[in-house]
Amino acid sequence: MKIICVGLNYPSHADEIGMRPADAEPTIFLKPDTALLRNNDPFYIPDWANRFDYETELVFRISRLGRHIDERFAHRYYDAVGIGIDFTARDLQDRLVREGRPWEICKAFDYSAAISPFIPLAELPPVADLHFCLTVNGEKRQETAASQMIFSIDRIIAHVSRYFSLRMGDLIFTGTPTGVGPVSEGDRLTATLEGRTMLDFEIK
Ligand code: MG
Repeated sequence: MKIICVGLNYPSHADEIGMRPADAEPTIFLKPDTALLRNNDPFYIPDWANRFDYETELVFRISRLGRHIDERFAHRYYDAVGIGIDFTARDLQDRLVREGRPWEICKAFDYSAAISPFIPLAELPPVADLHFCLTVNGEKRQETAASQMIFSIDRIIAHVSRYFSLRMGDLIFTGTPTGVGPVSEGDRLTATLEGRTMLDFEIK
């Protein structure tokens, strides 16, 4: 399986990290399956960068094979949603962007994609209304609704399926809202979706 991620998909987050929000088309990058961090396992801060940020994101699970999917039919290709944390080595990303180099290593490293269990969409409100939030040590840091995304999940699927065949089980991380910040040893990250606790794990 593969993990497809969208960057800069909320205007408020692009501002806070000093980058331009997406305009004509989504910013896409991939993570390998070795990036997954499941079962509320702790995130161990690597020693090769100085600042690791959490980015809380809605994650959609692909439910059937498809390529060149029209936006109108994109909703047929995912069936469940969860919450993910797209961990990012921010100081390394800043350097790579400045040098005009690919940023893969700062985003796709081992255990950089914390993922919750998935909830069938049939049990939830319409996708645009999905509301999620992150607290760190009990303090609210990120909170938004899917309606704030620049590119909807359907537009993202139409775009990425021009380049990558989508397979059952692939995951799409849809970008993070404002409020990202660095993690420290001992932090506890708790993410909710529609009031349900989806992720609750420690930073070590
Ligand atoms: Mg992200």
